[in-house]
Amino acid sequence: MMQSKPNTLIIGGGWSGLAAAVTLTQQGHAVHLIESAKQLGGRARNIQWKDQTVDNGQHLMIGAYDRMLAMMNTIGSDPDKIFERSPLDITLYDTDYLPLSLSANSRLPWPLSLVWSLIDSAGIGGLYQLTKLQHSIPKILSAEDISVSEWLLNTKQSPRFIKQLWEPLCLATLNTPIELASAQLMARVLKDSLGRGKAAADSLIPRIPLGDVFPRAAAHYIEQHGGKISLNTRARSLIIDNNEVCGVKTKDSRIESNNIIVALSPSQSSKLLADLIPATSTIEYPICTVYLHYPPETRLIKPMIGLTGTISQWVFDRSEQTPGLMAVVISAPGKHEEMTNLELIQHVCAELHDFFPDMPKTVNDSLVVREKRATFACHVNIKQNRPQSKTHIKGLWLAGDYVENGYPASLEGAIRNGENCALNLIKTMYN
Ligand SMILES: Cc1cc2nc3c(=O)[nH]c(=O)nc-3n(C[C@H](O)[C@H](O)[C@H](O)COP(=O)(O)OP(=O)(O)OC[C@H]3O[C@@H](n4cnc5c(N)ncnc54)[C@H](O)[C@@H]3O)c2cc1C
Repeated sequence: MMQSKPNTLIIGGGWSGLAAAVTLTQQGHAVHLIESAKQLGGRARNIQWKDQTVDNGQHLMIGAYDRMLAMMNTIGSDPDKIFERSPLDITLYDTDYLPLSLSANSRLPWPLSLVWSLIDSAGIGGLYQLTKLQHSIPKILSAEDISVSEWLLNTKQSPRFIKQLWEPLCLATLNTPIELASAQLMARVLKDSLGRGKAAADSLIPRIPLGDVFPRAAAHYIEQHGGKISLNTRARSLIIDNNEVCGVKTKDSRIESNNIIVALSPSQSSKLLADLIPATSTIEYPICTVYLHYPPETRLIKPMIGLTGTISQWVFDRSEQTPGLMAVVISAPGKHEEMTNLELIQHVCAELHDFFPDMPKTVNDSLVVREKRATFACHVNIKQNRPQSKTHIKGLWLAGDYVENGYPASLEGAIRNGENCALNLIKTMYN
């Protein structure tokens, strides 16, 4: 069966593929997006849990996610309604040390508010360590890459700061253990989230399920403007003739196009593009989310807290969406992988109760979601293993969070890469 010739074919309906499709649509180009799953959203999608819809994993966005916020405005979604936006205000509770706070939530102007919260919880020594690390960021960004743990030792961070601040922040942003993680990527994240003013560091926690935050509204925008979206449609192979892309083969059809954007995860992309473009690093790390449904009046002391010295790493209060719902996030490989779901739920509940005796010992309901290939590993020198968007095959482009952009895997990175890929593709059409 032969279909009519679409202008640009996008393979993959995650946030990156959708951002590429929205950008092309906005610029007046016809698009056809194919997605192998029965729903859009990829690694940031809705899942059904009995009678409620939750995320496939708890996500946190921040005020520095410029392109994501701009794209939401383009498609008619109002970020002010969708996100619970609050100034940076995290407290990290440890099994050995006193709580440590980073908060912009005081009358003092930024960054004095942040400095004050740090001095208050970690003394003047804490401020000294933060300043030393901050001053080394330009050097880290321009020199040969090293691991985050090497960077922390070079800047004389204390064992407390490493355990209670840098390790959890590294896991949360790079999803990679500090001994292996790229100092350059971590420095870039710190520079952009803490060095661009108070609003950039705001935390944005969605009030609605992730699939409704962007994918659903993006699909509506694309289809309203004449674009086509086909679910349950897997690209099996690309058709290349004389180093030019001509289309894609699916299970029961060929879809022709001379402009194709492949917006997949690194491992999915390597599978589809094997033998066509040089292989990229496909080491991917897991993220596990444990949903705990407590009685509806249960609240966490803040919308988001960190725990260290425990299996639980970050706890989010999702009461805005479902009263009494907490999401506990565990990034990267670890001991929790050896536990059954029941063991993990019991362990995490006990940890929360130990820190916050007001939290009940048991829950009404619970769900464990293990995303085994959540993000690409941000190892030292990862930059060299990330591909560029333009390939050597005419008409074939890459999007997806792993395409080189100087940032770790994130929704902002996925959107940025989708948008930039679409804009570059359009430029070549007119050359
Ligand atoms: C549990 C978890 C927590 C996370 N937490 C955060 C966070 O707090 N903040 C943050 O910014 N980011 C977070 N991320 C990362 C973020 O979700 C990803 O960076 C982003 O979703 C990647 O989008 P993508 O479009 O590049 O790739 P994907 O979402 O992987 O999209 C690829 C799509 O292509 C489809 N597909 C695959 N093969 C084919 C084929 N052959 N033909 C057609 N379609 C195909 C897939 O089904 C998928 O829908 C988290 C990720 C996970 C899993």
